[in-house]
Amino acid sequence: MTFKHKGLLALFGGTFDPIHYGHLRPVETLAKQVGLHKIILLPNHVPPHRPQPEASPSQRLEMVRLSIQDNSLFTVDTRELERDSPSYTIETLTELRQEMGPDQPLAFIIGQDSLLSIHTWYGWEELLDKCHLLVCSRPGYATNFNEPQMQEWLKEHKTDDANKLSQIPNGYIFLGDTPLLDISATEIRKGLSSGNLCDGLIPPLVMAYIKQQHLYQN
Ligand code: ATP
Repeated sequence: MTFKHKGLLALFGGTFDPIHYGHLRPVETLAKQVGLHKIILLPNHVPPHRPQPEASPSQRLEMVRLSIQDNSLFTVDTRELERDSPSYTIETLTELRQEMGPDQPLAFIIGQDSLLSIHTWYGWEELLDKCHLLVCSRPGYATNFNEPQMQEWLKEHKTDDANKLSQIPNGYIFLGDTPLLDISATEIRKGLSSGNLCDGLIPPLVMAYIKQQHLYQN
């Protein structure tokens, strides 16, 4: 799917096993803070050497679709899920940058936990050549890097001026002031398998689908 868009466009990658309000609410707030009108959810293809999602790729996609139904802020891009092999974020961003051209302001959204480990991502040094990074707060994670050189990298690229994100195509890091939601997919899977209802953590349509598909029961 190619998207031509006037303003800032953002991608939000994740395993989404399952998608939950800890994903959706912070990025909705972030969208308001930075004037984002479109967020493209990008469900990952999980490499075989990593712990595999409990839900199948098509179930994860269906849950993403159900969670954004009737919400025009979001859309979904299935390119990573449809590939035969996993792709690195930098590869997907390179592809999208080619499709959208050099002038489209483009951002990639991550949580604070992902920011703190970003230097372990393949090709992370090139990420800011392709996009901005928008970071959502996440409870339980430090605000600073342990590594002084990473803290320096953050300082060098950080901006508090949201306008710059739409004026320049890539290169900034923006730390959002987003609601702190102590929700993780791991805790939801554990909760559901031990009979916890996980009320209020997942959109109702996603919860109904989880029940119908008998997901996360053991
Ligand atoms: P798991 O528990 O299975 O590792 P997760 O809940 O962390 O999953 P992912 O699909 O791995 O969800 O996360 C996708 C992105 O969403 C990551 O960048 C992660 O940092 C961010 N994220 C997930 N949960 C939250 C949350 N509660 N608050 C802020 N960001 C979050």
